[in-house]
Amino acid sequence: MKKRCLAWLLLVVLLLSSCGDLGKDSGNGTPEPESPSVESEDTSDSSDDGDGEDSESDFEEPSGSQTPDNNNPGSSYTYTNLSKTMWAKTNLNVRSEPSKIGEVIGYLAPNEEVKVTGQCNETGWYRIEYKGKVGYASNSYLLDQKPVVEEEKPEITMYATANVNVRSKPNTSGTVLGVLTTGTSVLAYGPAENGWIKVLYKEKVGYVSEKYLTVEEFMMHPEITAEDVVIPELNGTGPVIVIDAGHQEFTNPNLEPNGPGSTTMKKKVSRGTRGCVSDWWEYELNLVVAMKLKEELIARGYQVVMIRETHAINISNIERAKVANNLKADAFIRIHANGSNNSAEKGAFTICQTPENPYIGDKYDIYRKLSDCILDGFAESTGCVKKEVWETDTMTGINWTEVPTTILEMGHMTNPEEDALMATEEYQDKMVDGIANGLDKYFEEINP
Ligand SMILES: [Zn+2]
Repeated sequence: MKKRCLAWLLLVVLLLSSCGDLGKDSGNGTPEPESPSVESEDTSDSSDDGDGEDSESDFEEPSGSQTPDNNNPGSSYTYTNLSKTMWAKTNLNVRSEPSKIGEVIGYLAPNEEVKVTGQCNETGWYRIEYKGKVGYASNSYLLDQKPVVEEEKPEITMYATANVNVRSKPNTSGTVLGVLTTGTSVLAYGPAENGWIKVLYKEKVGYVSEKYLTVEEFMMHPEITAEDVVIPELNGTGPVIVIDAGHQEFTNPNLEPNGPGSTTMKKKVSRGTRGCVSDWWEYELNLVVAMKLKEELIARGYQVVMIRETHAINISNIERAKVANNLKADAFIRIHANGSNNSAEKGAFTICQTPENPYIGDKYDIYRKLSDCILDGFAESTGCVKKEVWETDTMTGINWTEVPTTILEMGHMTNPEEDALMATEEYQDKMVDGIANGLDKYFEEINP
């Protein structure tokens, strides 16, 4: 019995030593037997970024004289013996030689601990113990200290734009952890990857389709919608003017078609630009001017309908257009201010469609006349820089209209001088007077 055991031991020792590369260089103790299969984590990442050292550009390949001896890998190099623990910085190949020409014999995972037994004097690569064998890894990707893994924190507040599922995985096969209701905020870890945003949901990590999250503060005000637009009794004789103070307090980033039957989708409504000096949001300035315009137009005998008289509403650009259409308004005046990346840019302009507009191209002449009259009156009264009428078919709030419409861009809130000016009562009165004069002129021209 005893003899048999000894014989077995001898056989094992003989077998081990004949393998050549097992335990030869490590020197201390018997190496552990090689595990039969590669661990799953090693292979999974190997195809894409396993070759950590390949990204190193300044790596010098060893000269041709150091041809490897395949039966005894690493033998043509000299080593300084070491005995220390190091950590892989990234997915890292373990090779049969202390250079890139060595065969890949395995992988280290990021932060994997490894026993270093020496360093190659010629290439600088480390000699390591790898699954009981001797292997070599690039010195550029082994660290003396365990890397501190920075804990990822969810730091971006995002808002759900619809009732949307939170899933356990970044795809629709992930189980549903819960539902974010419209307008609810959630903390996100970073930008979307493959269309999914990682979020912290009820203290768990979940994933939400990026289509339904926005960084803009978003709140529905279902209590004030298009149906709540106050329509006064219109039994006077003056022309009916619908005034739309552009934008609203909260963005509604849900999409609506850019024109009737169009597949181009645009955000329903936003907050607009912001004053660089006044600090006013555009939706605030627009309403201040619109309210003054209402008074002025009523004083001049017009019948006025306001799309909004408060900020906390939820009325999209299409819905605003439909209010004017349903009333068969004589003119629809949309009050806006502009923003530009160039703070020097200033001046006013109006907007209408092109004659080729697929929805209301046939009404180009009358829209253009209204746009010209308003811009002329406005520029004359305020003395501002007068820009051209901008003809474009990209405006949802024009494409959906059926009655003469213009968008007035009163000035640039990104220009310090113009922004400060538009925030003053004196200039607001001039702007309002100019718009009213433009309207008067428009009706004189169409009803001579
Ligand atoms: Zn605007």
